[in-house]
Amino acid sequence: MFSQEQLNKFSTQETPFYYYDLALLRRTLEACSTASSKYNFHVHYAMKANVDPRVLDTIRSFKIGADCVSGGEVKKAIECGFTNDKVVFAGVGKSDPEINYALDQDIFCFNVESIQELEIINELALQKGKTAKVALRINPNVNAYTHKYITTGLEENKFGINQWEFEKVAAAIKILSNIECIGLHFHIGSQITDFNVFKSLCIKVNEIVNWFTNHHFNIKVINVGGGLGVDYYNPDTNNIVDFETYFRIFDSFLERSANQEVHFELGRALVANCGSLISRVLFVKYGQVTNFAILDAGMTELMRPALYQAYHKIENLSKDHNVKNKKYDVVGPICESTDCFGKAVELPDTNRGDLIAIRTAGAYGEVMASNYNLRNKVNVIYNE
Ligand SMILES: *Cc1c(COP(=O)(O)O)cnc(C)c1O
Repeated sequence: MFSQEQLNKFSTQETPFYYYDLALLRRTLEACSTASSKYNFHVHYAMKANVDPRVLDTIRSFKIGADCVSGGEVKKAIECGFTNDKVVFAGVGKSDPEINYALDQDIFCFNVESIQELEIINELALQKGKTAKVALRINPNVNAYTHKYITTGLEENKFGINQWEFEKVAAAIKILSNIECIGLHFHIGSQITDFNVFKSLCIKVNEIVNWFTNHHFNIKVINVGGGLGVDYYNPDTNNIVDFETYFRIFDSFLERSANQEVHFELGRALVANCGSLISRVLFVKYGQVTNFAILDAGMTELMRPALYQAYHKIENLSKDHNVKNKKYDVVGPICESTDCFGKAVELPDTNRGDLIAIRTAGAYGEVMASNYNLRNKVNVIYNE
């Protein structure tokens, strides 16, 4: 729900634009820190969700770490003032220049996904006379029960080291002189809304940590990844996720000793709800089966619906939103049939010039924007 003041501000802006509510972001971060600090849990922000400078600056001010999946993200994190001892570098395909850059920055840890990657990091660290701290990204084969395009923790996925490879990995680490294995890392998928999935993850993680401990590894860091889902259907009534329950589950079901740290990498849960994509209706087409509301924003500004059939709540801000008397396919101007934000969306009578909000667009929205069709870069405005 937007205030009249916000709507007045919107109506003077050139569309489309992303609107970030930094006040809501701060409340979300506050809730996350309060809930996680009860158990001394360490939270990193998964940078790939949103790298808007003001958003990043707000997150950094809460003194949390940065989880990066490319050399570019490592660089951005450090430039934005995340301290190097809180930067983690994950990703299934790290290039040599990216690894070298991260080694030069003395980051906290590399999350490593294969034996070959371990060998290359070892070799590059050796050339620099350094020891690289690594955590092994394990594929725990736990089903996240989320959309298959955003599932990462099953054997069929490209991510992580599988259980049948443990003996070989353990043997490799023992002979790699410039690698220090400090922990284990897990990330099974995104937009997970069933808390039982995290309980299953804990049980599996306990088993795997035990295996490594029994094989004489000192597992100091247990990184359980991110994936906590948000409520895309109720962005006003349920705008901050239930961090309390989330962290309590890990406290209850994850076994850990006094010298073991538990790390989290949350992306979506921190930033999704603070963002909306605001657009104007260019044209309305009435068909025999389908009406179309054609917006000035498209998949080039928000790709999630086209990329993984994602749902976003769509509102007409220029009309009484309680009235829902027509159905429209809400589409963008891009020359692709997947450029559709929602099918048969119930809206009030919608006209050219109406302002449309696509809600919960703060995560994996602006970061995936492209200039396909030679589109302009999308504008951004903020609520302090
Ligand atoms: C994307 C990603 C995350 C964050 O996922 P969310 O669903 O946004 O919380 C965390 N860790 C890794 C390794 C990732 O790739």
